[in-house]
Amino acid sequence: MAYSSTEKILRDQGIRCTRPRIAIYECLASIEGHPTAEDLHSIVCDRYEHVSLATIYNTLTVFEETGLCRKISSSAGSRFCSADSQGIHVHLRIAGQDELVDLPLEYSKLFEGLLDEGLLEQLGRSLGMDINGLQVELLAHQHDDQA
Ligand SMILES: [Zn+2]
Repeated sequence: MAYSSTEKILRDQGIRCTRPRIAIYECLASIEGHPTAEDLHSIVCDRYEHVSLATIYNTLTVFEETGLCRKISSSAGSRFCSADSQGIHVHLRIAGQDELVDLPLEYSKLFEGLLDEGLLEQLGRSLGMDINGLQVELLAHQHDDQA
């Protein structure tokens, strides 16, 4: 199992490694798109071992506090986004569609040059906070000829 790299990621964030946390992290990182806590619950129980839904929620809160995942609220409820990748995470919101999708990585990378690293540090200092990520949301609508 590739547990060792996950353990390192969790330890680097000061998170105590438990089997459920490792399983939840790996599921979240391996899923494309943005699962709900319930989605993660059924996948973790299927692929790893039984954990309670409360453990899923508690773990996601720990991951969120350390920047390992992001919560995305929508009218359909909360979804979670794996956020361990460095750089700018770009979401695409398409008018008329409820779900937010991740912009493919090759396009997300195009945004990285737009921002100078010092800006977030400076902003963090001014706010007295550690800024551990940047998320961009693109608003789009389908062309009529593709509808
Ligand atoms: Zn995302």
